[in-house]
Amino acid sequence: MSTQDDKRNAKHKAAMEKQKAKVDASIEAADEERGVAVLVTGNGKGKTSSAFGMVMRSLGYGHKVGVVQFIKGAQLSGEELYLRDQCPQVEFYQMGTGFTWNTQDRSGDIAAAEKTWAVALKMLQDPSLDLVVLDELTYMIAYDYLPADDILSAITGRPPEQSVVVTGRGGGSALQDVMDTVSEVKDVKHAYTAGVKARKGVDY
Ligand code: ATP
Ligand code: MG
Repeated sequence: MSTQDDKRNAKHKAAMEKQKAKVDASIEAADEERGVAVLVTGNGKGKTSSAFGMVMRSLGYGHKVGVVQFIKGAQLSGEELYLRDQCPQVEFYQMGTGFTWNTQDRSGDIAAAEKTWAVALKMLQDPSLDLVVLDELTYMIAYDYLPADDILSAITGRPPEQSVVVTGRGGGSALQDVMDTVSEVKDVKHAYTAGVKARKGVDY
């Protein structure tokens, strides 16, 4: 090895030592053990699939999981098929109406939203559930289908060991305020805008 390589390796080692000290310090500082509230929002692709990634993580530890989907298209997506057919241990509920721009029926949507919220609320009050996913919940707030205050107080009042994941665009700053982790998925580009059809196993 050249002396230049030695120098580069030494520099890398010093930088990594510094980085490790930083990471160790922040791990040390985070000493609160409780469930977390995660919001995955934004216009890019990856919100619902992120939530189902956490479902898989949780199931890997034998945790109890509940999933409620507030809006669903006519096409059942792969993760829905998998949960329904392969994961009987997961409590799974779907609102059962299509996208609101398809139904165009506000009062019908509200009735379905209220029925679905009753299921979600029960999950948010059930200490035996380790993880609750509320997929596309933000639209219920954005369209004013459900009272935002009820949603926020149910999230903040859930059992302390329970984690909750909310997905969907928008949702407002009051929702962001009560969540512990908020990630915004940015739409850099999407195959769809280049005319590529939604892909089985990737998009649904
Ligand atoms: P995914 O379910 O793939 O994680 P998502 O939950 O972030 O996506 P939604 O707004 O719920 O996104 O829309 C779901 C569907 O719309 C998916 O098929 C996804 O590929 C597609 N989609 C998501 N973002 C975009 C976008 N920016 N342009 C076009 N289609 C999109
Ligand atoms: Mg989604």
